[in-house]
Amino acid sequence: MLWIDTHCHLDAHEFGHASLPVAQRAGDLGVGMIVIPAVERANFAIVRDLAHAAPNGCYALGIHPIYVPHATDDDLLVLRALVEASMMDPRFVAIGEIGLDFFIPMLCEPAMRTKQEHFLREQLKIARDFDLPVLTHVRRSQDMVLKHARQIRPNGGIAHAFNGSFQQAQGYIDLGFKLGFGGAMTFTRALQIRRLATELPLEAIVLETDAPDISPSWLHPGRNSPEELPRIGAVLAELRGLDLAQVAAQTTANARAVMPRLPLI
Ligand SMILES: [Zn+2]
Repeated sequence: MLWIDTHCHLDAHEFGHASLPVAQRAGDLGVGMIVIPAVERANFAIVRDLAHAAPNGCYALGIHPIYVPHATDDDLLVLRALVEASMMDPRFVAIGEIGLDFFIPMLCEPAMRTKQEHFLREQLKIARDFDLPVLTHVRRSQDMVLKHARQIRPNGGIAHAFNGSFQQAQGYIDLGFKLGFGGAMTFTRALQIRRLATELPLEAIVLETDAPDISPSWLHPGRNSPEELPRIGAVLAELRGLDLAQVAAQTTANARAVMPRLPLI
């Protein structure tokens, strides 16, 4: 069985020097690809090098909303130039992590909301111009991210750690997006997320760990890892009453459909 972890911060300091052994062990468990999104200019080269060092690594480039306060327009120029240079790199698969975070109070101040929207729009344009999908961070901002994506129309993407309504899910699906599900759906009390994971078309769902964050119920609150992806997939299979192999095959096909640059394994 082959799995794809569509969102994993394998470069995070929580992994210390263990990023590569973790990727290796995940690979041994069937996690054939791990998508490592960037979060700021300072880690663009880090995620690229890590993706090349891990046999099952690939990467995305982008500026995460939490890093927007310190980001400058110059970072957007650097991003655009690096994306252009990376189009020849088979391990480069998407623009991300980008989005809007209207949960963290500091990011909700009017000037910061505007700055976040500016960075989201400029990065959606980079994705559109290079025909790339986007990996989005959407927190208390579903309709706003949808609005900008509708206006700019990148080539699809993934609404990472999806936690919206069925109507919002449909909005993303209509734009060629998949919806990312991970550790959150392993908690029995997460009724809405479990209902979405059970009732949305399986063709719309991709799996992710968001490691080291969003640890599944059996690890909580420990450090999450891409090694957990098959067990998270098993939860999805159980919720939907499907074979594990069927869920692995379909979610892997979904990840490939939305990120066509994913290397073949
Ligand atoms: Zn993330």
